[in-house]
Amino acid sequence: SNTNTSTITKTASDELQATVWFDTSKILIDGQWRDAASSKTLPIENPSTGATIGVIARGSNEDVEAAVAAARAASRGAWGRMTATERGRILMKMSALVLERADELAMIEALDVGKPLHQSLNDSKALARYLEFYAGAADKLMGDTIPYQDGFTVFTLREPHGVCGIIIPWNYPMQIVGRAVGAALAAGNSCVVKPAEDASVSTLAFAAIALEAGMPAGALNVVTGLGAEAGSALSTHPGIDHVSFTGSVGTGKHIQTAAAQNVIPVTLELGGKSPHIVFEDCDLDKAMPTLVGACMQNAGQTCSAASRVLVQRSIYDEVKQRMSELYRNLVAGPAVDGCDLGPLVSAKQKSIVSSYIDLGKAELNVAAEGTIRENAATNGHFVRAVLFSEVPPNHRLAQEEIFGPVQVLIPFEDEAEAIEIANGTPYGLVAGVWTRDGSRQMRMARHLDVGQVFLNNYGAGGGIELPFGGVGKSGHGREKGFEALYGFTRVKTVTAHHG
Ligand code: NAD
Repeated sequence: SNTNTSTITKTASDELQATVWFDTSKILIDGQWRDAASSKTLPIENPSTGATIGVIARGSNEDVEAAVAAARAASRGAWGRMTATERGRILMKMSALVLERADELAMIEALDVGKPLHQSLNDSKALARYLEFYAGAADKLMGDTIPYQDGFTVFTLREPHGVCGIIIPWNYPMQIVGRAVGAALAAGNSCVVKPAEDASVSTLAFAAIALEAGMPAGALNVVTGLGAEAGSALSTHPGIDHVSFTGSVGTGKHIQTAAAQNVIPVTLELGGKSPHIVFEDCDLDKAMPTLVGACMQNAGQTCSAASRVLVQRSIYDEVKQRMSELYRNLVAGPAVDGCDLGPLVSAKQKSIVSSYIDLGKAELNVAAEGTIRENAATNGHFVRAVLFSEVPPNHRLAQEEIFGPVQVLIPFEDEAEAIEIANGTPYGLVAGVWTRDGSRQMRMARHLDVGQVFLNNYGAGGGIELPFGGVGKSGHGREKGFEALYGFTRVKTVTAHHG
């Protein structure tokens, strides 16, 4: 299989270079593509093969310094003077350009992140839709007039924060750039974006598209690099007015601590351990494929992955058996090969997920496993999907975010127990509830400690219009939908006394 690996390697490397229409080794500051001040680079790895297929710039302090200065100048200059309608038009143009480039963007993501092409194409279309939504919303964001005492007229203005620092994870780069940067720009902020070191290329593509659409210099700056260098420099920089972070809980704590030092607002979208709660009266035929797909998407590397499946005891055996059948058909393989699951993003991620699977195999029952495609490169970061059954709710595999293709089945007796188990982790991102009983749907929606509840569906097909965010260790603040625009603005109250 060594020969096989090197063939795939050559193709993938050529393919990335043939797909990008910009130089992946540059960062964007003040409308100019530059090398990192240090001239250092980091490799781009194809997770399906383990091969290096290009380089990105290793930005650091000095680059962040320049980017924040450029963003500040833009918000005082051309970008700050634009009307909301004009900002919206640029975003609308970006949306059209993203759609034109949807296939290239999907290929970039498949090669850089290992996401199966049909899923990465969905991400490019979502990016276009985010831009379209926020383009239209830009000039519909308004303040209030407030009835007050006689002789006063009081109104509020919704103003941008100024310079937003936006830090992106590797699992859904395009979607997260769309929802965070799209909303921040629509609201009139300028942005400095730090994409994840494992998945920066599509954010560079986004920046190239912004320039093509007429984005003024400095309104959008992108500094690639490591979290501990470029990321930390950005989140601690005294010149930013707001920070939006999507990533792990550990890093989120650093970000919030840094924001506290600068006394700036922060939006945190962190992890999850989201449950599907399956009652005996549900439409099981409808629920079944969703129960599995809601975790297997992106090989389980989804913050809202439904990684816990809580099943009412009376239908437990049937659900276990039907899910097991679906698991045995799950094939992991190269992202461009039309498999259900791509590889995990990196060797590091594979080793984290594998250690959870090993722990589960030592202490729990395996209900079923998927397979890895026979000709998959040995250096690709593939893992088999695994379903564990009869998992105690307090077991580490039922409490901790695995971020891989692993689900745990947990039986429950009644509604009260289901709620207790569902709410019994430090997280609270989303939950899915499967039942035909309308009153139970409402009770569950009220009692689940999460930011979003799905009744007889999961994920609502993306739902970019729907506010999204967590409670507890899943973070705070809301992105997506119109709600995000409130987070990216601040209110100024104007009180006029006119006798
Ligand atoms: P991560 O926290 O390691 O990295 C996220 C980003 O932060 C990267 O760009 C990284 O370079 C940067 N970073 C790392 N250390 C930093 C530091 N000290 N200062 C500033 N920036 C730093 O997370 P990850 O491994 O990339 O992503 C996986 C995690 O993200 C999972 O826990 C997942 O649940 C979560 N996630 C949440 C959502 C959501 O919307 N809630 C979406 C996607 C991912």
